[in-house]
Amino acid sequence: MRKKKDQLVRVLGADYRLLFLPGMQDVDLHGDTFGLTSVWDRLIKVDSNACQSQQKDTLLHELVHVADQETAQPSERLTESQVFRIARALFSIMHDNAKLADWIMSEDE
Ligand SMILES: [Zn+2]
Repeated sequence: MRKKKDQLVRVLGADYRLLFLPGMQDVDLHGDTFGLTSVWDRLIKVDSNACQSQQKDTLLHELVHVADQETAQPSERLTESQVFRIARALFSIMHDNAKLADWIMSEDE
């Protein structure tokens, strides 16, 4: 598996540090097995020991958490189940429609 570099991820204009660290499965603050997000610290951690598809799924899950927390009042936040289902559906759509996903993510002409 290609080693991913830690990087910045921009979410709604805010830069989050993205770290790939081994052993995240031991950290479980909100039910995620392979990831952890701190909006306060603008930090997303993904378990580098997970298989690549699990890392991608986990990163998308954590990004949905970030988007939710950046846009919703605490009383309006998505449940863990809702985040899980949205992220899983988005991952599936992008995975099964790679060209469409590339087009959505491309710069406007
Ligand atoms: Zn979660």
